[in-house]
Amino acid sequence: MPYRTKDIVIVGGGSAGWMTAATIVSLFPDKNITLIESPSIPTVGVGESTLGQFRKWMATIGLQEEEFITECDASYKMSIKFTNFYSKDSGSFHYPFGEVSFDQNNQFPINEWFAKKYLYPDTPVQDYVRHAYDQAPLIEHCRFDDNSNGDFGTFNPRRDVAYHFDATKFANWLREKYSKPRGVNHIRLSVSKVNVNDDGIESLVLEDGTEIKSDLYIDCTGFESLLLGQSLKEPFTSYSDILPNNRAWATKIKYKDRDKELEPFTECTAIDNGWVWNIPCWSRIGTGYVYSDEFISKEDALDEFKEYLKTKKGITSPDKLKYKDIEMRIGIHERTWVKNVVAIGLSAGFIEPLESNGLFTVHEFLLKLCKSLKYEYVNRLHTDLYNRNVRGMFDFLASFISTHYALGVRTDTKYWNKLSSMHYDEEKLFPEAFMLPQLGSVEQDPNLGWNPGSSGLHCICTGMNYIPTDKISHDFWCFVYDGMGEALPSYIQSILQNKNQQYEYRTQRALSSPTLNQYLKQKYYGNN
Ligand code: FAD
Repeated sequence: MPYRTKDIVIVGGGSAGWMTAATIVSLFPDKNITLIESPSIPTVGVGESTLGQFRKWMATIGLQEEEFITECDASYKMSIKFTNFYSKDSGSFHYPFGEVSFDQNNQFPINEWFAKKYLYPDTPVQDYVRHAYDQAPLIEHCRFDDNSNGDFGTFNPRRDVAYHFDATKFANWLREKYSKPRGVNHIRLSVSKVNVNDDGIESLVLEDGTEIKSDLYIDCTGFESLLLGQSLKEPFTSYSDILPNNRAWATKIKYKDRDKELEPFTECTAIDNGWVWNIPCWSRIGTGYVYSDEFISKEDALDEFKEYLKTKKGITSPDKLKYKDIEMRIGIHERTWVKNVVAIGLSAGFIEPLESNGLFTVHEFLLKLCKSLKYEYVNRLHTDLYNRNVRGMFDFLASFISTHYALGVRTDTKYWNKLSSMHYDEEKLFPEAFMLPQLGSVEQDPNLGWNPGSSGLHCICTGMNYIPTDKISHDFWCFVYDGMGEALPSYIQSILQNKNQQYEYRTQRALSSPTLNQYLKQKYYGNN
């Protein structure tokens, strides 16, 4: 039956709760919004690396970059760097944000890098990003440049840059500076009872006995999923068959030399039973070890993580750091909008931290939800469409993330043996990975909300040595040779030579640009 959306109660005050409050109050100032947050149940306290679409969400609700950066201890993120995912000592590859840049005059029916790899099979896979992204030298040398004179080609610092930030400061900022001043009512009490009826949730009872009723309830209670999971008992679909990581240890470390360590990328380093994230915020670095407890106990995982911090990060006394033990629920509820309850954030589902997809799903699901909230009454059509879109996006992301493991050939531990033999959806992956601009224009996928051809899939696939020249049929290459014959190598050579010269020039330019630390100091932080 249709129901109203005038009164909205959000339960949970982590990033998801306050992003929800800020978004709805900004787009629908006439709605009555209350956020209930437990003073005793902590937030997850991680989730500090975003994707590029975060900027779009900020712009949609009018958040100012300068204020966000200085209030939330933020820094710039231009890429995700993956280390040793393909094989034990395979080294690193990047997935930068932004548009790929191939030779505009190329008459060849496939982009020139794939031809390069075909003609010169020894070309390392890392070369792909250097070739395709004009900002690669900035990333490689931890520099930043506004690209005001176009030296970095297609790089657009207003579009191709995401953020690292402090999650606790972010939620506080959205609460104090944004949501409460616009009228969001904030209650700091736990919900101790949820009354359910045929229409969904009838009321919430707080720990002081107050009963709260609302038209719509938004569940932002994290992995607890108090409203959708525990109260409405919506079934949960696990992704453990393709993504077995289910625990993490997290900590924070100080800078020793910010000029060198403030990297403009999140680094994900594969180790024996999972991978370690490194997220440089402005005043400290967040790091953590994601692993599967099917292969290692949490105590041994902590020891392994401390050893990593000691040997790879130069932390002399890792025992002195504080560590947070996090259990993750991997998967998604079958539906995330059921009757008068919508779950946003970890309460809806979580894939795993790779690719910073948690906050991405929060703002993308929110923007989808807001398409329905503009109506005074919503009905099954709204919920069904929302659920289908959300589920499509989530399933795609889960299958994308599974490729980071399944395409690898690591067999050095039981963990990697299992992960590198896991299933991935080749039928789905292959066409999407290689829908590059020069293979024809790609329509934006209405379910995903972005163009898969310019997403990171091709970076991950090439980085993981999944090369289309191995996949595209022999007939295709015969056709190309028939058309161009001996002329092919020299044609490609001239494009590559030009590209190499550009890369060398940009490397020199990058080295004369400020480090990210110098840039942020000058622009935002002064001498802090
Ligand atoms: P939480 O932060 O857990 O908040 C839950 C809230 O619900 C709290 O305020 C709590 O007090 C409240 N609550 C619970 N029960 C009650 C109750 N009974 N009454 C009242 N209030 C209640 N995402 C990224 O985008 N990038 C990353 O790099 C990234 N890394 C991650 C690493 C790890 C290990 C994990 C687990 C997640 C990561 N994520 C990441 C995901 C990201 O952390 C979350 O998407 C984001 O923090 C949102 O969390 P949340 O608000 O849903 O949950």
